[in-house]
Amino acid sequence: MPRPPEAAVPARRVACGAHFPIRSLTRRAALALMLPVTALAAQAAPSAAYPGKTSPLPTGRVTYRTLVETNLEMERLAAEFPDRVRRFALPHKSLLGQPVWAMEISHRVAQSSGKPVFLMTGLHHAREWPTVELTMEFVHDLLKSDGADSALTRALDQVRFVVVPVVNPDGYELSRSLLNEQKRKSCRIEAGKTPTFADCANPANQGAGVDLNRNYGAFWGGGGANVQPMQQSYRGEAPFSEPEIQNMRDLMAANQVVVALSNHTPDAKVLRVPSSAEEPVPADVVVYDSLAQLLGKDLNWQAGPWPKVYYVASGTMEEQAYYTAGTLAFTFENAPGQRSFHPPYSFVVDQYFGTGAYPASSSRAGFVRLLLAAADPSLHSVLRIQAPAGAKLTLRKSFTLETAPVVQADSSKAPAIKIPTTLESSLIVPSGAREVRWHVNPSRRPSQHEQAFLEESWTLTCRFHDRMQQLEVKVARGESVKISLPRCGGAQ
Ligand SMILES: [Zn+2]
Repeated sequence: MPRPPEAAVPARRVACGAHFPIRSLTRRAALALMLPVTALAAQAAPSAAYPGKTSPLPTGRVTYRTLVETNLEMERLAAEFPDRVRRFALPHKSLLGQPVWAMEISHRVAQSSGKPVFLMTGLHHAREWPTVELTMEFVHDLLKSDGADSALTRALDQVRFVVVPVVNPDGYELSRSLLNEQKRKSCRIEAGKTPTFADCANPANQGAGVDLNRNYGAFWGGGGANVQPMQQSYRGEAPFSEPEIQNMRDLMAANQVVVALSNHTPDAKVLRVPSSAEEPVPADVVVYDSLAQLLGKDLNWQAGPWPKVYYVASGTMEEQAYYTAGTLAFTFENAPGQRSFHPPYSFVVDQYFGTGAYPASSSRAGFVRLLLAAADPSLHSVLRIQAPAGAKLTLRKSFTLETAPVVQADSSKAPAIKIPTTLESSLIVPSGAREVRWHVNPSRRPSQHEQAFLEESWTLTCRFHDRMQQLEVKVARGESVKISLPRCGGAQ
């Protein structure tokens, strides 16, 4: 039997471009007075699916988090679990000047390590509230399961789990406070100009903003993104024009992200590249699609490339992740079928566990699979490096990333933009290790033009006191390479 709808949630599935008026005088008054939006959070909370009770989620929550709650929760987690949780701000503030917070969860999290990284994001799109919940609850779940569940405990030994629960904090505040509940995009109103919160909340600017999942550089400007600023999938004035996406670009460039997941709602899909029509079949299609299909089984959803199972989109997170580093990157379209981008909270609970409204469709199962995939060295590359404790190792590569041929307002196409790109990550060799294992992405990079690899190498630099050694390293997916650095004091 279908669940009765909850009273306070306008649960209408919204087509792209639909306009939703600000609904209450109270909110209008608050807006006129320019009250901080957080003042509205309590009254804006949707009614609970579990009145007076707790849900089975790890935190027991029964309502969607506000931005303030989410940020405070991250701060608390880092303070409570300093050995396992490190909170850090991404390098760029949001357009409205807010910090964008991330967490890293791993055993001995403060120590430099060569563990592979699993990156998970929520809320590129402002109204897709369940993505914040699913991400935050999985963090709590891992911390609770640590020591009790052997596979997850081992995973926390082996993997650095990095989360950005709210990629788009400005948009989330607008949507979650119900000032502009159906907002999808960022707060950008005019290219190159910084608006105020009141500008962004002004009903006249309701349709403005950049679609942050069309603003990444790889294949930016292709099909499935809009050229006009008031359209729902507006790509922005240039690749990486938005600080929120500069954050994601820089985070991925500075870490060996071997697996990535971008959480969205509400269309019941597991998506991988290609997402646009301009892309080739990915060079790693066998290994990449195998993982996609397993995830499809965990979620009981269709899995595959965007154009085949969903629609065309360009400038997406997984294009950026895959074509810069070979990261096995996916999108989940969570919490489907409820006529809303943020259905009543019980659907979040059901989606997390694969119960109730979503039998055998568990986001948690998919998250766990991706965490374990990140730990699996056959899916990335390993450098086994002999270097002295305390030495600083850096892996670097520079290359040219390309956008798609850029679709113009008159539908003609301008040549692709070439984007100089550098990836650089580093670690300090821990004491007590004869050999440090650095889990990295393959040096061979998938071509943007054909189903082939580009034979690139990593430049490995070792610095130890006044010693320095540098060498080129070629490594394929699934390969493990042994490296000695005698001139850096690594000897033998
Ligand atoms: Zn989305």
